[in-house]
Amino acid sequence: MAKGLLERLSEGVVLGDGGYIIELEQRGYVVTGAFTPELAVTHPSAIAELHREMRNCGSEALQVMAFYGSREKLATVGFADRTIEINQAATRIAREAAGDDLLVAGDLSTTWKWKAGDAESERLVTEMFDEQLEAQAGVDFFIGELFFSLGEALLCLDRLKKNTSVPAMITMSFRADNVSEDGYTVAECTRRLDAAGADVIGLNCMNDPERMYPHVEEMRSAFDGYLAAQPVAFRCTDETPWFTGLPSFPDRLEPTQLTRYEMGEFAARAKDMGVNYVGGCCGSKPTHIREMAKALGKLDDEGRWQAKPDSPMSETEQHWERRRQARRE
Ligand SMILES: [Zn+2]
Repeated sequence: MAKGLLERLSEGVVLGDGGYIIELEQRGYVVTGAFTPELAVTHPSAIAELHREMRNCGSEALQVMAFYGSREKLATVGFADRTIEINQAATRIAREAAGDDLLVAGDLSTTWKWKAGDAESERLVTEMFDEQLEAQAGVDFFIGELFFSLGEALLCLDRLKKNTSVPAMITMSFRADNVSEDGYTVAECTRRLDAAGADVIGLNCMNDPERMYPHVEEMRSAFDGYLAAQPVAFRCTDETPWFTGLPSFPDRLEPTQLTRYEMGEFAARAKDMGVNYVGGCCGSKPTHIREMAKALGKLDDEGRWQAKPDSPMSETEQHWERRRQARRE
């Protein structure tokens, strides 16, 4: 096996992948609203294809498409009894696309069943995490993502530490302010996850890059460990800095799509800010990842094709020449 996550992070920035569930919804596979991963068994080739596109565009780690793949969540679309099969299939699909050189990240996500201080909730969420992480055995590291409560994030980390021996990344998500649903600031969440032994701590989803930078800064100054940032590629606003709060969510997102260049700028700025694991969440398409890979110096600029503006053979060459001239003026 190639180098593991921690070794790669010690050598430089690692580029993750983009978003899957919204992209697959827009491609006509996922049920809007439920956003569950049953297509690992109903349409496995759709996931495999998107993994291959991410790989082709420079991703160095592929995330198992098991987002919202817990038993309770799958029950909402009638797939609870296939929870293990779905998680196993999603893991196999990612591994096949990753080959020998890319890393595979297992995926656990917020369960919507967590209630602070409630023993019954803790028992249920523990069971849900354990079932998924066992079904995803063999991954190179795990990402526990989209945690709005520090308590649920810490429980996820605890289950990963007790049941697996691979690195654990935990990413928190924030909506309008910098406080978790159970009352901890970004900095406090970071310090507590660090003290509990998370190998990588970070942020994912909800905020676009502009609205994620303040949290990135707060996390970076709260600890010295490896930091991850995977924002959405849908434009948010200062009034509503999280995309699921906008009227465009979930089925009118297209006009809010960020360009590939905006995500490329994010990758470069994140690296400058000390982010170690850079990726994208919802709305980040393979072409966004390609631009991020270029911004991080991981991909050549244009490959074999060279524009010849003196004797153009496509509209693109003329466009690019106009842009070059505009930059010179
Ligand atoms: Zn997302």
